[in-house]
Amino acid sequence: MVNQYPLSDKLHADTYTVENQPPALQDINYYLSDTALMEATQREGGSWAQEKLQRCGGFCGSTAAIKLGWQANHTKPELITHDHYGNRIDEVGYHPAYHYLMKHAIKNQLHSLPWIDDKKGTHVARAALNYMQTQTEAGHGCPITMSFAGIPTLRLDSKVAKDWVPKVTNDIYDPDNKPYASKSGCTIGMGMTEIQGGSDVRTNSTQAHAIGQHGSGEAYELVGHKFFLSAPMSDAFLMLAQAKAGISCFLVPRWRPDGSKNPLQLIRLKDKMGNVSNASAETELRGAFAWLLGDEGRGIANILEMVALTRFDCVIGSAGAMRQASIQAIHHCRHRVAFGNKLVQQPLMKNVLADLALESEAAVALGMRLARALDSSGEVKSEQSIVRLGTAVGKYWVCKRTPNHAYEAMECLGGSGVMETTLMARMYREAPVNSIWEGSGNVQCLDVLRVMQKEPDCLQSYLDEVMLAKGANRIFDSYATQLNNELKSNDQLQFRARRLVEGLALAMQASLLIRTGNNQVSDAFCATRLGHASGHTYGLMPIGFDCDAIIERAFHA
Ligand SMILES: Cc1cc2nc3c(=O)[nH]c(=O)nc-3n(C[C@H](O)[C@H](O)[C@H](O)COP(=O)(O)OP(=O)(O)OC[C@H]3O[C@@H](n4cnc5c(N)ncnc54)[C@H](O)[C@@H]3O)c2cc1C
Repeated sequence: MVNQYPLSDKLHADTYTVENQPPALQDINYYLSDTALMEATQREGGSWAQEKLQRCGGFCGSTAAIKLGWQANHTKPELITHDHYGNRIDEVGYHPAYHYLMKHAIKNQLHSLPWIDDKKGTHVARAALNYMQTQTEAGHGCPITMSFAGIPTLRLDSKVAKDWVPKVTNDIYDPDNKPYASKSGCTIGMGMTEIQGGSDVRTNSTQAHAIGQHGSGEAYELVGHKFFLSAPMSDAFLMLAQAKAGISCFLVPRWRPDGSKNPLQLIRLKDKMGNVSNASAETELRGAFAWLLGDEGRGIANILEMVALTRFDCVIGSAGAMRQASIQAIHHCRHRVAFGNKLVQQPLMKNVLADLALESEAAVALGMRLARALDSSGEVKSEQSIVRLGTAVGKYWVCKRTPNHAYEAMECLGGSGVMETTLMARMYREAPVNSIWEGSGNVQCLDVLRVMQKEPDCLQSYLDEVMLAKGANRIFDSYATQLNNELKSNDQLQFRARRLVEGLALAMQASLLIRTGNNQVSDAFCATRLGHASGHTYGLMPIGFDCDAIIERAFHA
C-alpha cells in the first residue's frame, strides 16, 4: 500500500511561508547607532567616557540583554512575607534576569558615577549610560535611580553618611536580605506617598518618636504606613514622618543596627499595569527604627534633594523610551513592504517616522543639557538655575510626550505592534509611569510657578539660555517673543501653567537643536512644534523637509 502521509505533510507546510517580516532588532550598539546621543554626550562634556559608553551600548542592545529584559518582566516579583517556620522575613523574589540587570547597572556605576569620580561630565556620562540601559529594561532602573538620588540626602548627616554612602556607592550588587553591616553593597528606596496623599506630602501621618535624644543622626521609631514603596528589597529607605517639630526626613534600614529585623512590614505588592519587573509595596511601620537626617521639621526640603535627581532620571528614562520606540518603528518600516513599496519609502510613513525621531532627539538634547547643568551647578549659579527650573520643565514635558509617542511607534508596526511578543506592548504600558510618579504633571507645573515667583533669577537664566539661538530661525524667534509676553502676565497663572511650561520646554528644546547645528532637525522641529504647522499628532511635517535624512540620522541602516 502507498503511504499518503509525506504528500499531505508537504501540502500543509507549503501553506505557511514567513515573508515580509523584519529580522529581530538585536545585536546593535545603543551608543554607536545613536548619533544624537553621541553628539550630546560630546557636546555636554562626557566624551571621556566613550569607551565605557560603547561597551555598555553593545551590552544593552545585545540579544542576551534584550532577553534578560523579557525574562525580568515575564516573571513578576513575588512577595514572601514569612519563612517556612513562621518568621517574618518581608522578602521579594525576582527572576535571576532582574538581578543580572541590577548587577550590570551597579558594576557600571549607573547608581554612583557622579559621587565617586570627580571628573567633569560624570552626570552626563551616567545619564547616557542610564538612557541606554533603560531601553533594555526600565523597571530595574527604579532602585538604581533611588540609590543614585539618595546620596545628597544621606550626606545631610555625617554619621549616617559615613556608614552608608560607601556601601551605596560601591560597585558591588548584593541582593541578600541581611543586616547592612555585613553587606558591601546596599541600595536605597524611598517612602513618601501615603494613602491619604501623595502629591501633598504635608498630609503624611506616619509618626516619629525619638528613642533618646532629638536631632540629626539620632534614633527614632516610626509608626504608620506607606502606600507606595518601590524596590521594597532595598537595604534602607528615605522616608518622611511627623516628628515633634513637623515633617522630617529619616533613613529606615531593613534591619536594625543590632542585627534584628526592623518592623517595616510589606503588606502586599501592587498589581501594576506597567513597570512590572519592579516591585512596589504597601507597607506598615510598626515602630520601625530610623535615623533622622537633617533637622526635625525640614523633611520636605531635605528629601527634595533626592526627588530633584529622581525627576531628572525620569527625563532621561522617558527620553530613552522614546529612543527605543523610534528605532523599533524605523526598523520595522525599513523591512516591511505594503502596496508594493517598503513602508519607510512611503511619503506618509516617512512623515510619521521622521516626526517620531524629532521628538526623541529633542528629548535627549534636553536631558543631556540638564545633565551638564548638574555637573556645573556647584560652581556656576546660572547652571543651578537651569537644574532648578529645567528639571521640572523637562519632567513635565518629556515624560508627558512619551505615551503618545509609544502609541504612534506601535502603530507603525501595525497589528504586530500590539502583540505581547514585541517590545512595543511593554513600552506602551511603561510609558505613563515616569510622568505620574515623582510628582505628576500638574505638580511639576506648580513647581515651575513656585520657582518663577520665588526665584525669578532662575527663569531669567533659563530664558537667557533659550535666547542663545536667537536669529537663526524665524519661527523660533517669534515663538520666543510670544512666550516672553505670556510669561509677563500674572493673570490666572495656575490655570495657564501647562501652557507656560509647555512653552518653556519647547523653546529650550528648539534652542538646543538649533545650536547643535543640524538644520534638517532644528528647522523641522521648529516648523512642527512652534509654528503654524504644529498639531496634536505625529506626521504633520509640512512639505520641504528631508525626512530620509532625519530618519537616517536617527538610526543608521
Ligand atoms: C509605579 C509606581 C511606583 C511608585 N513608587 C513610589 C515610591 O517608591 N515611593 C513613594 O513615595 N511613592 C511612590 N509612588 C507614588 C507616586 O509618587 C504618587 O502616586 C504620585 O506622587 C501622585 O500621588 P497620588 O497618587 O497620591 O495622587 P494625588 O496626589 O492624589 O494626585 C492626583 C492627581 O492630582 C494632581 N494634583 C495634585 N495636586 C494638584 C493641584 N494642587 N492642582 C492640580 N492638580 C493637582 C496630580 O498631579 C495628579 O495628577 C509610585 C507610584 C507609581 C505609579
